[in-house]
Amino acid sequence: MTFFVPSSRRVLFLSDDPTLIDRQLAGDDLDGDAAAIPLRHDISTDEITPASICYYFDETLGEFAYTGLRAGERFPVRRGAVRAGGFIASVAGRRRGKGSSREQSPYAEWAAGIRVVIAHSFERIYRENCQHLGILTSTDFSLIPRLQAGEPIPLAEFTLGEGPIARGVIEAGGLYPYNVERLAGRAHVPPPDPTPRPLTLVERILARHWVADAATGTVGVQAVRPGDQGFVRCDLRFSHEYVTPMAAMLFASLVGRDAPIADPESVLFFRDHLTFLADAMSADQVEAGVLDVALALESTQRSFAAAKGITLYGEQPRRPGSAASAGSVAICHSKILEDHALPGDLIVGSDSHTPHAGAIGCVAFGIGTTAVCNSWITRDVRVEVPPSCLVIVEGIPPANVTAKDLMLELLRHPLVSSGGAIGMALEYTGAAVSAWSIDERATLTNMAAEVGAYTAIVAPDAATVDYLVARRGLDRAMATARIAGLAADPGAEYAHVMTIDATTMRPMVALPGDPGHGRPVDALGDVAIDIAYAGSCTGGKREDMDMYARVFRTALDAGHAVAPGVRCYVQCGSQDVYAYCRSRGYDALFAAVGAELIAPSCGACINAGPGVSRRRDEVTVSAINRNFPGRSGPGQLYLASPYTVAASAIAGRIVAWEPDLAPARREPDDLHEALDAR
Ligand code: SF4
Repeated sequence: MTFFVPSSRRVLFLSDDPTLIDRQLAGDDLDGDAAAIPLRHDISTDEITPASICYYFDETLGEFAYTGLRAGERFPVRRGAVRAGGFIASVAGRRRGKGSSREQSPYAEWAAGIRVVIAHSFERIYRENCQHLGILTSTDFSLIPRLQAGEPIPLAEFTLGEGPIARGVIEAGGLYPYNVERLAGRAHVPPPDPTPRPLTLVERILARHWVADAATGTVGVQAVRPGDQGFVRCDLRFSHEYVTPMAAMLFASLVGRDAPIADPESVLFFRDHLTFLADAMSADQVEAGVLDVALALESTQRSFAAAKGITLYGEQPRRPGSAASAGSVAICHSKILEDHALPGDLIVGSDSHTPHAGAIGCVAFGIGTTAVCNSWITRDVRVEVPPSCLVIVEGIPPANVTAKDLMLELLRHPLVSSGGAIGMALEYTGAAVSAWSIDERATLTNMAAEVGAYTAIVAPDAATVDYLVARRGLDRAMATARIAGLAADPGAEYAHVMTIDATTMRPMVALPGDPGHGRPVDALGDVAIDIAYAGSCTGGKREDMDMYARVFRTALDAGHAVAPGVRCYVQCGSQDVYAYCRSRGYDALFAAVGAELIAPSCGACINAGPGVSRRRDEVTVSAINRNFPGRSGPGQLYLASPYTVAASAIAGRIVAWEPDLAPARREPDDLHEALDAR
């Protein structure tokens, strides 16, 4: 029997009480009775490793573990403190590892000496990332006093209840050593039961991509069912500059610097997260060399792409004589949907919002750095077939209610807020979903990340075909053939069915701290704002721009502009959207109303561009998808729809847009005609 032998007896409790963290970092050990300790719930990966720390992609990360952790009103963990404390394990409450899929977080914990993480529950990607790195995870709190006693613990206690793949990965000490055994045919991957059964759409696409035999490369099985573990062959694999360099480092250490990447044509790299960092970083940070560290991410990705023959959607060249960034070609999710994804594809990306492409009927999900690196070698990724959850959005919503409002409503649904949808595949359907455009559907699937879902999908339909023809230039017959058979079977099993009546929905806002803190805007009270940010992959699509423009046009016509003292930024998700804005005259409209149109990038969404707050008392209303502490600066960050963001910019306080139009949704083309007619 194999044992985990603790090399230290110190266990760090991540508590809501900052004084308890102070005591532990000063050398006190708390009693192992976790029930007596107020544990922090919902610790996001942004808190384990704040975005600015992820500029490092080596063991330096270990100096920064938990430096973004908020306890009470403080951030009690200082640089180097966890590593110096000699902790072997750390303990938290529910939903540990929320948010971004960044593997820098468990890697920082590992590099700080943490070998066991314990929590009431884990987010899927975070837990997988831990396993891939060789960090043991458990929800068994009785392990704590045993670790504190220095007791060797059988590895079997950490694999209890795990399926064959997870068990194999844990026992092998990580994903790569397991893959070596699998590809050589030495690790047994049990095949799914081939008995036909009604499949959900996600199950159908997973079955089509299932690696039936790794040694021969045979792909496709008859059926899969929730809980089946295996590997799926990917149609597309992508990563961005936050992840590619660390994956490249792992790649070199595992298979050698000169090894080729398997099928490089289906791998894409993006420079999107940090394009504007130089404009946003403080002089002190630049002076301290942080910018140079961050810029190394870009240069490392660029040279790796060149060496391996990978397409890189990079940074746009700066205009002659201009010091300002011209932005990125696109945010990764925007480009994947605009140019690459096709219905029925299986897509993996180094980002938790990868389900964005589910808007046209793909199974797309986020993976961590080790999985990215392994996929470069094997073309496949590990999966466990998720249970599916059907989300039915009935009726047509009022004209000022958008897909973003639906998501903020869904995030406060008891099933979701209690973590009941973690790891599930969401399938959206209903009259509202059918009526929403592909851009709006992408907001639904994108924010599966905030739900904690595995992935999200909308079954492709006539609107999908229209989109593929109009936006992607596909032949109509080809587009129609592409969606054939992409639907759930009658009788397919859903673990949950959530029904939401869109007709009664109101514009929503999420209070600072968590996207799940939603409430109707009309129940918010008076909240004055300093910043309105209209952008990101969630809020930077063509139709989002239509919404901002619709509100701003109405405001201008009424003699209003962005409220005095409010800074308003509009940032497109891609150069395609940027060109669309110019073609529609939105650039002039935004300028006239007092909003600044910025070139495409993640920017403020990742605390790295115009639109970030600078002080804790600054208030932002933002169209981005998450508002965990520190996500977009130190201020108070409210999430809202494009309509609400634009209306709030004009009002100077958070308000919903109250259209003087009939409540039926106006299509973009109607708007364009209206604008053109002016
Ligand atoms: S815009 Fe924000 S959420 Fe979207 S990919 Fe960039 S950092 Fe992630």
